[in-house]
Amino acid sequence: MKILLVEDEPKVAAFLQKGLTEQQHAVDVATDGPIGLRMALAGTYDLIILDNLLPGLSGLDVCRQVRAQNSAVPILMLTALGETDDKIRGLDAGADDYLVKPFAFQELLARLRALVRRRPEASGNAAVLFLADLTLDPGSKRVQRAGQPIQLTAREFSLLEYLLRHKGRVISRVDILEHVWETSFDTGSNVIDVYINFLRKKIDKDFNPKLIHTLVGMGYVMKEE
Ligand code: CA
Repeated sequence: MKILLVEDEPKVAAFLQKGLTEQQHAVDVATDGPIGLRMALAGTYDLIILDNLLPGLSGLDVCRQVRAQNSAVPILMLTALGETDDKIRGLDAGADDYLVKPFAFQELLARLRALVRRRPEASGNAAVLFLADLTLDPGSKRVQRAGQPIQLTAREFSLLEYLLRHKGRVISRVDILEHVWETSFDTGSNVIDVYINFLRKKIDKDFNPKLIHTLVGMGYVMKEE
């Protein structure tokens, strides 16, 4: 695996780099937040290990900005003992897991293996879908807009997934009924419009640009503008 390690403590960074290299991983090290962010956005990493307390930009901010760029790269946050709130904020910021320092190297390896197993790309059809700063992960069932987690019901999730799989194309209400509700008998009802409005409230209302567009008499299209 190609791993980006963002860690400002030289001893910890050297220890982890050595251990991971011995496990046949290629490891790039960044020693502050801004460099880490730049490398995370520029590189094609399989995984990012991100310390939280960093010079220049916190690990949380790096994480948020990486997610805002539609990147679904697995991120493991490292937090110091006692930073309980940071664990939760780390997950909110889009981290996939966290590890409290000090930790055993074997535990780090186990977490990395679990993260890579969970990677959506590993299961074929489950690649992360995105449009602008909206991401939907069919594997973990997570939706984010601008790095913020969005809670959807199962039906809303299915509807959004269907629309995103066909982004840029006009989708009729009949298409949606057949593929999301798996029925076409109810074309007269406004159930689709109701659910589209639910989705709009959650993913468009507080954000720009708007992504769900209605074409009167034709259906809906998801696009940026
Ligand atoms: Ca640190």
